[in-house]
Amino acid sequence: MATLEIRDLHVTVEVENGTKEILKGVDLTVKQGETHAIMGPNGSGKSTLAYSIAGHPKYTITGGTVTLDGEDVLEMEVDERARAGMFLAMQYPVEVPGVSVSNFLRTSATAIRGEAPKLRTWVKEVKETMAGLQMDPSFAERNVNEGFSGGEKKRHEILQMELLKPKIAILDETDSGLDVDALRVVSEGVNRVRDTGEVGTLLITHYTRILRYIKPDFVHVFANGRIAESGGPELADKLEAEGYEAYVKGGASA
Ligand code: ADP
Ligand code: MG
Ligand code: MG
Repeated sequence: MATLEIRDLHVTVEVENGTKEILKGVDLTVKQGETHAIMGPNGSGKSTLAYSIAGHPKYTITGGTVTLDGEDVLEMEVDERARAGMFLAMQYPVEVPGVSVSNFLRTSATAIRGEAPKLRTWVKEVKETMAGLQMDPSFAERNVNEGFSGGEKKRHEILQMELLKPKIAILDETDSGLDVDALRVVSEGVNRVRDTGEVGTLLITHYTRILRYIKPDFVHVFANGRIAESGGPELADKLEAEGYEAYVKGGASA
């Protein structure tokens, strides 16, 4: 079973008046088959964690390690991370001019599997997965992210996840900008992948509402650049009732 290990991760970004430390020692282990939710107030560094693991050039790792089965993820090129079995939704370009969703998915699958998927079964697989996400078949011919609505971006993200079958998936704010129906459809997609038992999911969110649909095994409270508390699903209920206030007192980035 694949294991993602984040150890004492420190990350800085360049801001107008110098360098700012955003992640201040993050420790987290995600194993294939587990679902983890990271929850925390705006500005606490959740997206920075996702971007740092994805290798976004704006984020400088100043300490700590990220490994997948002992392999140094931070040393990998972005495509190597995908081939190693990591799905990092935010690593993909915002828009891919002239590349259709259909071609993009097949190219990604080919890169990850090491050979092109057989066309006939692939087309069927894409169709069925899109239907499961209540996506119109014509969506496959649109250019990647060109004029996608918030909901379409999220569906496209989960479509990729379902088709690429990663070992570890990091989903940042999958629930943002979705109405209740879209949230349910997208959550069902995540649950389909999760129910295979083959993926470890790190679900990053500000709101507890997605956790009504996707039941995490572990919940972590993220505040001021690190994990402030970890627990089971009951921790999400506590956050829903009490908010993040107890965790951000005295913190600068709340
Ligand atoms: P969250 O996802 O929890 O809302 P972020 O990781 O987006 O938090 O941001 C954490 C802090 O880091 C914020 O104060 C934000 O302004 C700052 N930050 C994040 N990314 C950058 C960046 N690329 N440049 C400058 N500041 C950044
Ligand atoms: Mg934010
Ligand atoms: Mg964020």
